[in-house]
Amino acid sequence: MDIGLNLIDKQFQGIYHGKKIHPCDIKNVINKMIENDVSRCMLTSSSIQDYHDNSKICEDYKDMIPNIGYTVGIHPCSSAEMMNGKDIDFEKFSVLEGIWKDLLKTKNRFFMAFGEFGLDYDRLEYADKETQQKVFEKQLEIISKLTVDLDHKPPVFFLHMRSCNDDLLTTLDKYEFHKEQKFIVHSFTDSLKLMDEIIARKNYFISFNNCSLRTEEGLQNLKHCPLDKLFLETDAPWCGIRKTHPSYPLLVEALEEHKDNIQYKQLDYTVLKKKKIPLWFEQNGLDKDDYLIGDRHEPCELWKVYLLVSKLKNSSYEEIVNKVWDNCQNTFTPM
Ligand SMILES: [Zn+2]
Repeated sequence: MDIGLNLIDKQFQGIYHGKKIHPCDIKNVINKMIENDVSRCMLTSSSIQDYHDNSKICEDYKDMIPNIGYTVGIHPCSSAEMMNGKDIDFEKFSVLEGIWKDLLKTKNRFFMAFGEFGLDYDRLEYADKETQQKVFEKQLEIISKLTVDLDHKPPVFFLHMRSCNDDLLTTLDKYEFHKEQKFIVHSFTDSLKLMDEIIARKNYFISFNNCSLRTEEGLQNLKHCPLDKLFLETDAPWCGIRKTHPSYPLLVEALEEHKDNIQYKQLDYTVLKKKKIPLWFEQNGLDKDDYLIGDRHEPCELWKVYLLVSKLKNSSYEEIVNKVWDNCQNTFTPM
């Protein structure tokens, strides 16, 4: 299961830097994902509009991939749009509350998580700390009210935590949540000390992607993260593995070691360089699936993160796949 996927990104509409280069190929992306053993996915929403867009994608493709779903919440970098001057925009929050309420009431099958929300002190140009804090807290206040007494398990929290030290955990501690509430800190890039603090908490988990593994520290974090606390994601179309990442030589080594038992179809796909893209689609339309586009990361490449975990932890590939799959099955249960 890919727990962090951005299918609403323009790249899946064939638009790069504002220029349309190929037709929307979400259907092909999903086909390739299934062909490479990813049978579940969670689409990330950062704003109310994202929720509407993701909701449409889930409706459109649910027959191809029944286990598709989304998060609903406001990302710290989108928090300015939920403000009215220095104050919370109550009208917009009442819209968000209405959406959550309705999804909970109808036990909507696609509603997998609250979020992505949290704090991001690396990107204060989108919203200052005070705005981020207000918007995050307002969401927690509403969720607490809506879910604390639910007679069933609420959707998980999909948390964004970037360079904000303890602020995220301290903020979460101010509110009371359902006793079975689960919390996933996604795309973890912080220190080992902070990771230890998170995993020491009951019902808290960590999710890694290639961006979490672009530093030595990130590799160490993953090595130390217990398997029963671990989730994996691609964050596609972002966060592809780069040759400059310290994880890259490890992946090459692991691939060599496993070359007889790793037989993902993705390994045989043609990687289209930018100039070749229009010609490919002119010749094949959307009939052929065996391609990848330049640097665009795809969910069919999730197995590489699994392989890196098995390499770093010196465990068998199957063990990692089974363990993380169990975590997903136990956490993303229908309401
Ligand atoms: Zn994030």
